[in-house]
Amino acid sequence: MNKIFLVFFIMSNLMFANMIELDNIRLNGNPPQLVFDVNGDKKPAYEINYDENNRLLFIEFFDTKASNGFADKFVNGSYIDKIKVVKYAASTGIFVFFKKNVNYKGSFWSNPIRYVLDFSRKIDKKEYTVVIDPGHGGKDPGAIGFGKYMEKDIVLSVAKRLEKELKSDFNVVMTRDNDRFIPLSERARIGNRQQADIFVSLHANANANNNAKGFEIFYYSQTSSGYAKKVAEFENSVGERFGENTSDIARIATDISYRKNKEEAIKFSRQLMNKYCGDVGLEKRGDHGANFAVLRGFNGPGVLVELGFITNEGDVSKMKESNYQEKMAESIANSVINYFYQ
Ligand SMILES: [Zn+2]
Repeated sequence: MNKIFLVFFIMSNLMFANMIELDNIRLNGNPPQLVFDVNGDKKPAYEINYDENNRLLFIEFFDTKASNGFADKFVNGSYIDKIKVVKYAASTGIFVFFKKNVNYKGSFWSNPIRYVLDFSRKIDKKEYTVVIDPGHGGKDPGAIGFGKYMEKDIVLSVAKRLEKELKSDFNVVMTRDNDRFIPLSERARIGNRQQADIFVSLHANANANNNAKGFEIFYYSQTSSGYAKKVAEFENSVGERFGENTSDIARIATDISYRKNKEEAIKFSRQLMNKYCGDVGLEKRGDHGANFAVLRGFNGPGVLVELGFITNEGDVSKMKESNYQEKMAESIANSVINYFYQ
């Protein structure tokens, strides 16, 4: 080997030997954090800058060498969009592209050494009101499915978790927070009295064919497809079964706001559909418009979420588990946050 090259080779190895290795980039959901793992027990020196206009954070770790796994990431999450890594000769630069209205706090943690960016939402005051409507309740069990699980219990449990996820950022109104019966018209009225910005009704689907499975969302529409009409008939029948004439529940929105509400509800539905099926691991069945009494009476965008099929063994095995209920709630909460703040 040429002498000059040999010297260079030894020097560069000595240089790298003193360098701290950045090992891995991880994104955590709860609490929301971005974690940079460091190999060994030494913290690298660093500098951090945030460009408010472009919502771009730049961190440079000095005397570091990034591993192959320490690389660019596309995230498209609730707090950040992507991460770009630039490897310099003796340091590593990281760009983090932030979403709107996000705060961060950075700090080194020990054992093992890692640098952690904690994210939180920047909200001066609670701007929006979200109605969470756990379907059925009390004398109305909703659908009774596999293993005798009742729709009313599963949806209440997910609703309470969703309330917890949302209440630091939103005014949250629950149409019920215990096992009691509430007429469909009253549920919509609760939303209207609070001038709520969105109405999210939680249900579980049922089908005579117990192979039917997956996640479905409905929004209010004056017209519905044959299938959507059937689902709406079941959910509306609750009113009639318990002495409520659901055809009396009037649509109070004007034609202009009807169209706008429908558009907004579709926007929310599509986003939740993709996110939820990925997060919870359920089949995508799509979004449909139908004439739901509970949505018809609400003056704003409303959706009826069928968390999964209570008549399907696989879906029920998830819906009854607290960790899956938590995932469902988190996924819906993130979609609500994205809907209002993206
Ligand atoms: Zn239902």
